Amino acid sequence: MHELELLVVGSANADLVVGVDRRPGAGETVLGSDLVVHPGGKGANQAVAAARLGARAALLARVGDDAHGALLRESLRAAGADTTGVLVGGAPTGVALITVDPSGDNSIVVSPGANARLTPGDVRAAAPLVARSRVVSTQLEIPLETVAELARTLPSGTRLVLNPSPPAPLPADVLAACDPLVVNEHEARFILGGDARSGPEEWARALRELGPRSVVVTLGADGALVDSGAGAVRVASPRVAAVDTTGAGDAFTAALAWRLGSGDDLVTATRFAVRVGAAAVTEEGAQRSFPTAEDLVTRLPAGPGPGEGADG
Ligand code: ADP
Repeated sequence: MHELELLVVGSANADLVVGVDRRPGAGETVLGSDLVVHPGGKGANQAVAAARLGARAALLARVGDDAHGALLRESLRAAGADTTGVLVGGAPTGVALITVDPSGDNSIVVSPGANARLTPGDVRAAAPLVARSRVVSTQLEIPLETVAELARTLPSGTRLVLNPSPPAPLPADVLAACDPLVVNEHEARFILGGDARSGPEEWARALRELGPRSVVVTLGADGALVDSGAGAVRVASPRVAAVDTTGAGDAFTAALAWRLGSGDDLVTATRFAVRVGAAAVTEEGAQRSFPTAEDLVTRLPAGPGPGEGADG
């Protein structure tokens, strides 16, 4: 019955990037480089990352009936992701307008566009797609009410992975459905609010007390920490020369969710995910940096492949 290992429910954006000598101030016009358009958005990124690794993965998202929507569908198809859940129309495709200066600092304006029109009704209509998937992974670049509908209507045999990015206050029943909640340091601190704890072990325990069955805290070059209630486990990252960390969290979460959908336990899945995250930071860009299974061999020191539980 579960012929999909992973369904991602989330955003799809076109990233419109212009290089500038200096980012403009109020009322100012500056000339920039030629426009470069990349497929992005956390949902599309995760679906592409998982499919490129070999997952049977699908995306439930909404794009506009426009060239950016076509670009996103094509990048998903090229990666091998199932696009039958990519709905078209209702608003222009979401875009991120990005200016980057020579020091690498950027200014970004996001127009959510069609992402803001992915409704609870769309989730209900996609019930057959959801039921086909062992694991559903979602983020917060779509309306919170849509994420809440997903959490509340999840079939009992389907596991929910939530990366609360960008962070927002979460209803108790959404938190309780997460297995795991995947957060970086910034997201952990946001959700814990004034509840300042000293380090990742304490954040994970405090987050679990809010309801999730398990929590994974990503720690950049230090890998990740897993807490499923039986004590926290640190999973080290392979050492790599980081070139660009854009999209690393999306690649990590996609790999983790896929391996859970293939039957790995959470620690084993995390050992694989830190390798995927590390491989992704060795190349420029987001989707184009996401590794295939072969790239993991060429970009990283030797370590476990999918399903292999040896320490990484
Ligand atoms: P986010 O990108 O969401 O802020 P992190 O910075 O924690 O999250 O990165 C997510 C994952 O990507 C990490 O758990 C790790 O596996 C990998 N990663 C990120 N930065 C590095 C790095 N410098 N070296 C190796 N792996 C990295």
